[in-house]
Amino acid sequence: MDTIAENVKRIKQQMADAAIRAGRDPAEIQLCAATKMNDADAVRAAIAAGVDCCGENRVQELTQKHALGAYVGRPLHFIGHLQKNKARQVVGVADCIQSVDNLALLELIAQLAAARGIRQDILLEVNIASEQSKSGFSAAAAKDAAAAMTAYPALFLRGFMAIPPVSENSGDNLRYFEEMHALYVDMRAKKYDNTRIDCLSMGMSGDFADAIAAGSTMVRVGTAIFGARNYNN
Ligand SMILES: *Cc1c(COP(=O)(O)O)cnc(C)c1O
Repeated sequence: MDTIAENVKRIKQQMADAAIRAGRDPAEIQLCAATKMNDADAVRAAIAAGVDCCGENRVQELTQKHALGAYVGRPLHFIGHLQKNKARQVVGVADCIQSVDNLALLELIAQLAAARGIRQDILLEVNIASEQSKSGFSAAAAKDAAAAMTAYPALFLRGFMAIPPVSENSGDNLRYFEEMHALYVDMRAKKYDNTRIDCLSMGMSGDFADAIAAGSTMVRVGTAIFGARNYNN
């Protein structure tokens, strides 16, 4: 077995263990491969190893790997900060845009999706630790946006995603994950138009077990699947 396959197998086992410890069904939790800076062959290897979807951060990388057929067989999610002038390249290409981090972007995606005659799945990105350096809705603003989804029939709101601070120790982000889960449960019960809240995307290589303990339904894992990224390339 190659390294990527071994890594995916190990992570899935760790995910299942975390689910069972939390009294959850492991089948409720998806593994999204965070594929940034990994090439089409690595993406294909992750898909062959059984990841549930791929998450791409940069529009240029997404476009290149998409042209190479790298994502065939699995849904493609966009998980990076999306600049408005690049949204056109992602709407209708990504099955889900997880990183909708402000209302102007949401409105633009809605316009582009309507113009293309499609319905675009989205998540709202929540800046749950209120970090200055990060974009995203506050929890309160995310609730307002969910309630306003009735105005956007070309969108389908599927849930929420969060990127809490880089954690040094296990347990560090548990309270943020719990706050996200509370938001998710609250909004799931509302049944707003153009919404079907079934995705809570949180947890990365360093903290996915805690995210699962708190109720994550999708973890986004890069380093633990592909190894450390080389930022000098
Ligand atoms: C890179 C990235 C991940 C994965 O991070 P790792 O620590 O490498 O697992 C998850 N989510 C987003 C939005 C990312 O950019």
